[in-house]
Amino acid sequence: MHSMASGFPVGFCFFPRPRSRPTNALTFPSPRQQAGMSSSTRFTHLFAGSNLNRLSVLRSNPAFLTNSLQSPSTRFIALRNLDALLTALTTPTGTSTATTTTTAPTAGIPPLSPHKQHIAYLTYTDVKPALDAGAFHVFLGVDEGDTEGTGEYTSERKGGVVVVKGRSYWAVDLTKSGDLDDGVLAGLDGAFTTKNYAFTPLRSALGSLPWDIESALIAQARSVVDWNVRNQYCPACGKLTESGEAGYKRFCPRPNLDEVGEGEKEATKRCLSLTGVNNFQYPRTDPVVIIAVTHPTHPHKLLLGRQTRFPASTYTCIAGFMEPGESIEEACAREVAEETGIQLNMDSITYHSSQPWPFPNSVMIGCLAQARSVDVSLVDEELEDARWFDREQVVRALARHYGGGPLPGEAQGQGEAEMEIKIPPPYAIAHQLIKAWVEGFKLQPAKM
Ligand SMILES: [Zn+2]
Repeated sequence: MHSMASGFPVGFCFFPRPRSRPTNALTFPSPRQQAGMSSSTRFTHLFAGSNLNRLSVLRSNPAFLTNSLQSPSTRFIALRNLDALLTALTTPTGTSTATTTTTAPTAGIPPLSPHKQHIAYLTYTDVKPALDAGAFHVFLGVDEGDTEGTGEYTSERKGGVVVVKGRSYWAVDLTKSGDLDDGVLAGLDGAFTTKNYAFTPLRSALGSLPWDIESALIAQARSVVDWNVRNQYCPACGKLTESGEAGYKRFCPRPNLDEVGEGEKEATKRCLSLTGVNNFQYPRTDPVVIIAVTHPTHPHKLLLGRQTRFPASTYTCIAGFMEPGESIEEACAREVAEETGIQLNMDSITYHSSQPWPFPNSVMIGCLAQARSVDVSLVDEELEDARWFDREQVVRALARHYGGGPLPGEAQGQGEAEMEIKIPPPYAIAHQLIKAWVEGFKLQPAKM
């Protein structure tokens, strides 16, 4: 999230003191600190839960950024064609393994893996040749709780001196481009091979990523780098854009009016992106609603659907992109109606949790809701099937594939002819919505 006007977080304030005193340090508490939040929230999904202070207020401070970039303790996440540099799969005990249990990413939903892959962090020394050759890089933030790799970044700023302590994180794009050619990359790639590091498609690693800050760092790095790669040209006038604010802004270059002909001057001055507030210049996040829908009269039934591209027998919650001018509730109702023909009870739509989804830059807004109709009709043909499933079927799917066992008294389903289904793994918000329903999540009247 960014603040269009000033870049300052909401509620930000500071009290500058005279510069001659040693106590005149400005501090920039993270949003978590400002909100009095602990490091854990009510529900934290894969790709969420970063504990970095993103320090957006310092993204235009060259001295701070240089100190942060070049600190020996700084960690770099390397990407190539948006694939993150990861370590080889390791067993739970930490031993490297040559085998992999993950599947090809084509199915979109790889299974959980007992093996883990971690970010192969690089240092400034590692990436300096690439940076010198123009490798694009993005400031991710500072982990102020990291007492092992503490760096201290001091920079003068209007009103005082900035002191930030902690470990900095940056993303660097090692995709071949311009001066970042084979000659520069060969040395790095040789070292990666020696260390058993590999650029890994994120979808294929979903089941093996640690469910902690590492996944959140990859999500942030991937989404911001992707946005920069896809916005090389000004959407208003077509000129090549330039990067600013440590990777969080792209702007149309100020025109040099001496270089254009008389007839072009007015048009050149008028690039829309240079006038007033507009939404061309900052990274975008696309909201997606995802809904677990319960039956209007049989609350032990849940509506799930599947697309043809899903693995066999896999059913999941209804989901779709929000459209401009829609509330979350309206988007839920529209998507469910379009894909299944089911009408929702608007007052029942209840927010559960949200998940960043860096493919490339979505946020999944998870809700549960009750239907007010029961007949399924695949109106827009996005799904190949949607139907009501009994709680027992869903409980069996959870128990069979993800452990935990059936709930007491529910080991046997009633209908032997009922189809056995699979649901997405726990790292997907759909799984958590379905699990919340099984566990008795209560729908609340919407607060409109
Ligand atoms: Zn422009």
